Amino acid sequence: MEKDFNFVNMNATKNIALVAHDNCKKDLIEWSIENKRKLSKHHLFGTGTTATLIAKATQLPVKAYNSGPLGGDQQIGSRIVEGEIDFIIFFWDPLEAQPHDPDVKALLRVAVLYDIPIASNQSTADFLLTSPFMETSYNRKVIDYAKRIDKRTQNFSK
Ligand code: PGA
Repeated sequence: MEKDFNFVNMNATKNIALVAHDNCKKDLIEWSIENKRKLSKHHLFGTGTTATLIAKATQLPVKAYNSGPLGGDQQIGSRIVEGEIDFIIFFWDPLEAQPHDPDVKALLRVAVLYDIPIASNQSTADFLLTSPFMETSYNRKVIDYAKRIDKRTQNFSK
């Protein structure tokens, strides 16, 4: 049978995006300090404010994109599409609407589409970070987009 997906390899060293809405920043900072040793084995990224605060609190290098409300979530989404980010810890606020809610939704959608592990709360983050897959490579199952575009262009009639 023709397959419509590819396996995309994630290295043992993951490219982790860290994002927290304002009311959740303290929790993510504390979690990052607690898990500093494990996080130090991976490449870290984040939205502007979150990344800067975590870098300061842990002394780990965290590449900062723009602040979330200024497009940072969209930048992280685009890095997922480009294969440069493959893991997200995103403590989003379930109790408060955000000005950039559409961007948050878009990031979560792209993460699911690309079969990215994504933790939205502390227990999930704990389960993910203690997974044996954190120290090995792992194959994500991702739709074969080239094939999909090929089919769509073939089927297109003016
Ligand atoms: P911030 O953005 O880290 O710049 O605060 C996070 C967000 O609100 O998505």
